[in-house]
Amino acid sequence: MIQTLVTASPGETEKLGERWAAEVAPGWIIGLQGDLGAGKTHLVKGLARGLGIQTRVQSPTFALVNEYGGGRWPLYHLDLYRLQGEREIRGAGLDQYFYQRSGVTVVEWIDRWPELIGDPAKKFAAHYRHVIMEQTAELERRIQYEDFGP
Ligand code: ADP
Ligand code: MG
Repeated sequence: MIQTLVTASPGETEKLGERWAAEVAPGWIIGLQGDLGAGKTHLVKGLARGLGIQTRVQSPTFALVNEYGGGRWPLYHLDLYRLQGEREIRGAGLDQYFYQRSGVTVVEWIDRWPELIGDPAKKFAAHYRHVIMEQTAELERRIQYEDFGP
């Protein structure tokens, strides 16, 4: 079932991430789809805060992945913006984060791996939440999400 939410400020999007932190468990993957400025990184900031992570979260655009410890579980934050498709993602060694069971993986630009969102239930053994974020007004974001797997 697809759930739809609207946030009216960056802070509200962070709060949503914080609430999600209470739902997640090791092995969860959260895939974020949405243009630049859609609020993906703000959602991740909230998620990190909700997990009790103190480190400042920034888009890992150049590093491709940031690992944050010190919280309830490790948070693996990927950004696929600069990659094209499954071959490059595997080439960069990032696919391991889709199958890890030790923490929570959150992926900005998940649509860079279209095969993955085609049938997520098949691709992941663990829980997958697919999230689509859209700017609907200057301070408003529509957030739709759907859960797959156990
Ligand atoms: P992305 O990672 O998707 O590129 P960011 O989270 O880095 O997006 O940035 C979102 C931008 O949009 C920030 O400048 C933020 O202040 C602004 N913004 C305005 N309204 C919202 C909202 N409701 N939720 C999240 N960000 C918002
Ligand atoms: Mg970002």
